[in-house]
Amino acid sequence: MSRTLENVACTACGCVCDDLQVTLEKDQVVAVSPPCPLAEKWFAQAQRLDVAPAYIADRPCPLPDAIHAATNILRAAQAPLIYGLSSSSTPGQRAAVALADHLRATIDTSASTCHGPSILAVQEVGESTCTLGEIRHRADLVIYWGSNPAKSQPRHMERYSLDPVGEFVPAGRAGRKLIVFDVQETPTTTRADQFVCMERGSDFDLLWTLRALVQGLPIAQEHIGGVAVTTLRQIVEQMKTCRCGVFFFGRGLTAGTNGHAHVQALLMLVRDLNAYTRFHARRMRVFGDVAGADSVLAWQTGFPFSVNLARGYPRYSPGEYSAAKLLERKEVDACVLVGSEGLNAFSAAALAELQKIPTVLIDHPQPAVPVPTTVRITTGVYGIHHAGTAYRMDEVPIPLRPLIASPWPSDAEVLGKILDNLKAVV
Ligand code: SF4
Repeated sequence: MSRTLENVACTACGCVCDDLQVTLEKDQVVAVSPPCPLAEKWFAQAQRLDVAPAYIADRPCPLPDAIHAATNILRAAQAPLIYGLSSSSTPGQRAAVALADHLRATIDTSASTCHGPSILAVQEVGESTCTLGEIRHRADLVIYWGSNPAKSQPRHMERYSLDPVGEFVPAGRAGRKLIVFDVQETPTTTRADQFVCMERGSDFDLLWTLRALVQGLPIAQEHIGGVAVTTLRQIVEQMKTCRCGVFFFGRGLTAGTNGHAHVQALLMLVRDLNAYTRFHARRMRVFGDVAGADSVLAWQTGFPFSVNLARGYPRYSPGEYSAAKLLERKEVDACVLVGSEGLNAFSAAALAELQKIPTVLIDHPQPAVPVPTTVRITTGVYGIHHAGTAYRMDEVPIPLRPLIASPWPSDAEVLGKILDNLKAVV
């Protein structure tokens, strides 16, 4: 007999859609509606039962043995690292900070390989921010820059930015204009009213030119970054005359050594535009609760990522205390991975070092483990097996409720047990 649950939240990407209908049969999710390829994969994968509760050196073992082995690894460590947290939830993130605090470890999130440059830029320039609900109800000009939501956040346009009928956008899609800046055609560019194909690496030049045009300054060149200045002039006119505009920017803007400068340029452009109309900038977060990881670290340590607690108080230094950089410099002697998101952005040197030191992976059921691990513990998924809170990409907290009984503990329970063991007298 099947049953259908309404208003279920999904944490497969930063949209954290909380309007799903999920059909269950014999405590298994068999259908998800409205359709979303990422969500369907997420719910299917979370229900894999062909994994053991725990492994030591890739051999299945009882959970208490794995927790004991993880405790011993961390008890012996001089410079441990805790990394990940973006597929976790508030309880797991809090438990990870408590463990890092006790160990005097470094704690870092997948933001350091993704939107870390954006966070630095926001700290320098400030941010004209808004919720996705405001965009849904007010935005008549939507600009994606270096982002392909049709692939990475499949319902972003449908739910928040382009298609919905809003209070002040009663015509829905017909009442909005979509411009996409990217270096190549993507599924998102095919939905755009205007696709601006730019040269790779020209983000800063283009954004600075747009700032100059907003301020009415003359431009000597005819083309900037492969785009005609007449095109940029016409886009600036649309920006200045819209009622509410928004830039959604992704990794295409933040990647590279000068990513923070690119984002600063965009945030300054948005600040300039607010002299004429209402304009916002929002990050397109990829992982389900990476915004929650930033938030929990910020409220617990004062800083959003790359935090070192070795001196007994938090020190913040992106680059110096970023997980991949620490590993490249061989400054870590044990690592706890809370989720495996972000590892594919590590350099080969960082991944090689990760394979040389003792590693504890605390993660959902995965089809393949991204790196060999000393200890691996399987945990349930917040929003499927456990209650929790996820922060949407606009930092709005969304409550998560369990849908089915969990065969696995939560990562908060596992981290809490390891911390209890470390505190116990040996
Ligand atoms: S867009 Fe993202 S959060 Fe929304 S249903 Fe799809 S995967 Fe889940």
